[in-house]
Amino acid sequence: MLTQIQGLHHVTSLASAAQSNNDFFTRTLGLRRVKKTVNFDAPHVYHLYYGDEAGSPGSVMTYFPFPGATRGRHGTGEVGITGFAVPKGTLPYWQERLAGLGVGDLSEATRFGEARLQFTGPDGDEFALIEADDDRVPWTHGGVGADEAIRGFHSASMRLKDGGASAELLKFMGYDQIDRDGDTTRFVVPNGNGANVIDIETLPGVSHADQGAGSVHHIAFAVEDRAKQLQVRKALMDTGYQVTPVIDRDYFWAIYFRTPGGVLFEVATNEPGFDRDEDTAHLGQALRLPAQHEHLRQVLETKYLEPIAD
Ligand code: ZN
Repeated sequence: MLTQIQGLHHVTSLASAAQSNNDFFTRTLGLRRVKKTVNFDAPHVYHLYYGDEAGSPGSVMTYFPFPGATRGRHGTGEVGITGFAVPKGTLPYWQERLAGLGVGDLSEATRFGEARLQFTGPDGDEFALIEADDDRVPWTHGGVGADEAIRGFHSASMRLKDGGASAELLKFMGYDQIDRDGDTTRFVVPNGNGANVIDIETLPGVSHADQGAGSVHHIAFAVEDRAKQLQVRKALMDTGYQVTPVIDRDYFWAIYFRTPGGVLFEVATNEPGFDRDEDTAHLGQALRLPAQHEHLRQVLETKYLEPIAD
């Protein structure tokens, strides 16, 4: 069993428009945009990152906004709800705030004894704010005060036709199966970075999702450094997983593999972080391009990447 995984690193989803995506995460949810760059594999599309002040692993929601992309259809074989941790007693504040800002599909629920407020994003993306004891320091310059602000991810919930093999994988990755609530089984990584929970919702009768705007593209798990990442890569490959080579994403190093239930997993390093190419005070403001795409800057800025009003 692996001991290197520290919880979630980031969650990456698809959107249909950069501006509305930016406004939702920075203004409505009060996160900080910590990086404005491009999809390294498709540089005509932005890659936008939102999180806490530094973009700490476990806080970072990222998006590829493909202009005009068709909305996905939710189903099995994907990550459904991405959960953010908020302080206990703050859901009435959030309910009023989100309702006042016209956020869709607001509903309150209790899962695993935790109160949650579920809602959808601009492309039908599924989220929940979940009340939890969480001592991570929030970003508080996005219009939400320190007493209420999002602390980082609480969890990601996979919706699967058959959760068995993915449950075994999570246990191999160091997660403990701790509880069950209806169709959902909860896994927690001990001594994690705060974003410690993965839920598996088993829905044998639900058809497979179609990926599109509003769909989660992949979830990434955090490891401290490249040495730990190589240990994880070798262990996964020894177990029979097809894992990509290590890929340089400038702000972290990444490996990817497809899980038995169809969800794409990444393992990403905490190093070097988002202050690699701009200081913490100015994170996310200027368009940062990786060295291999810097020669495209003019055409990208004039032809493909519509400016984002902050
Ligand atoms: Zn990723």
